[in-house]
Amino acid sequence: MPSDLVIVYHRQPYEEVEVDGKVEYRENKSPNGIVPTLKSLFGNVPTGAWIAWKQAEDPENPGFEKVIQIDDAYGKYTVSRLPLTKEQVSSFYHITSKEAFWPILHNFKERYNYDPVDWPTFQEVNRKFAEAAAAEANPGAVVWIHDYNLWLVAGYLRALRPDLRIAFFHHTPFPSADMFNVLPWRKEIMQSLLACDVVGFHIPRYAENFVGAAQSLLDVEVTGRRDVPESLMTDGGALSDRRVPHSLRYRDRDITVATSPVGVNVQYIEDLAQSEETAARVAAIREELGDCRLILSVGRTDYTKGGIEQLQAYERLLKARPDLRGKVRLMHVSVMANANMTAYQEVQAGLESLAGHINGLYGSFEWQPLAFISNPVPFKELIAYYQVADVAWITPLADGMNLVCEEYVSARSDGDGCLVLSEFAGAAVVLSDAVLTNPFSHRSMDAAIQRALAMDEETRRHRMASLRAATHRHSVEAWAAEQMRSFDGFGSVLSMTG
Ligand code: UDP
Repeated sequence: MPSDLVIVYHRQPYEEVEVDGKVEYRENKSPNGIVPTLKSLFGNVPTGAWIAWKQAEDPENPGFEKVIQIDDAYGKYTVSRLPLTKEQVSSFYHITSKEAFWPILHNFKERYNYDPVDWPTFQEVNRKFAEAAAAEANPGAVVWIHDYNLWLVAGYLRALRPDLRIAFFHHTPFPSADMFNVLPWRKEIMQSLLACDVVGFHIPRYAENFVGAAQSLLDVEVTGRRDVPESLMTDGGALSDRRVPHSLRYRDRDITVATSPVGVNVQYIEDLAQSEETAARVAAIREELGDCRLILSVGRTDYTKGGIEQLQAYERLLKARPDLRGKVRLMHVSVMANANMTAYQEVQAGLESLAGHINGLYGSFEWQPLAFISNPVPFKELIAYYQVADVAWITPLADGMNLVCEEYVSARSDGDGCLVLSEFAGAAVVLSDAVLTNPFSHRSMDAAIQRALAMDEETRRHRMASLRAATHRHSVEAWAAEQMRSFDGFGSVLSMTG
């Protein structure tokens, strides 16, 4: 069915489960995150479509319906599942996206791996997404493409369907020209992005980097700038101008550069935090902790997340502050998402070795300084830990946004707690009242965790109130509404978020 709004996002928007030999589509396990927010946009348009991939041994005969109709709490929409072989998924996603693009996007030039990239496969997969979107879109429809693994979709789609309104959102950081231009396919990628009507980023710095990279490669003119909103001013110093580029002209087209940080579903988290089930878990965790204070760190096992640097800082803390031994515990959750990738296996091995070293050096039968957890903690359970944690210690070396820190703040409806946050998480721009730290500096890391542990209750509550106001202001709903506003001129779809 032709659609007015087509979302192109590589993952399917539900969990697929088999019940008595029949496939059922269920709500994603965590209603937090952007998938439900994107689906909620379907409630406001007559017809919506979602394009994702699904693995198939033989894409010609995938053994599943390529296009299915969903009718759920979010409205009626179709989902096109592109059949991709295991080899195509590995090449386009695990190799090109994760080994070549990911390190460059996060400023890790030394980890960039060019050799295994099969560019024609990346092009082919992106072209398939574009063809599926073109097939689903009504004349003049809005197509909203998500993230760097679909960088080429906009260019192909523009060629197929010049009538469409095309928007793109980057969920990762966007690096400076020096870094981005390491990619040999830089011009092709940039040309594709400039085929959009709107290109969106979390924070002003990424938008500025994008425009700098575009101008280093192509004849792109900045035709309009916009004041950085006061609430996103933290990194004002890192911007060359407090007015970020807002509109560009390339060849005969205008492109809007939109900045709005993605947030969390604050209401959902607050409701969970206040539930009886959570209260019971909180009481049990507190009892287990005794008079120890809890420092909590949650993330994926990825060199960008700075887990090794954090455990090293924890070891320095225990060495420098014998008075804290027996009085604090660090719960370090580091979940393996891409277990078959060497780079992540190395990080995991490094974390395991350091965790064992710290527990061996400082632990006793009665007290383990560190709980190292590699299995995913269910979201509901995390909410209970957020409520107990005296300090959330979130120190990525680079992170597009980071939602864990926002979840921590949203879960603290009691108004207490202290957030230590890396300056290199996009979220630092929103959560400027956290104890900000530079994870590349031992001195800064050491001072920040000590400051958090020593902070008096009045100061903690004062800062938490401000952090909570910021997460409300920049919730996931606010992000979607802001992005939709930047689609101005996109016709009927626009009216939906008011
Ligand atoms: N998460 C979870 N259980 C875990 C670890 C993480 O549910 O054991 C969730 C966490 O609550 C958050 C997401 O995974 O919603 C991680 O998002 P974030 O933006 O912080 O990092 P990403 O992994 O997307 O880089």
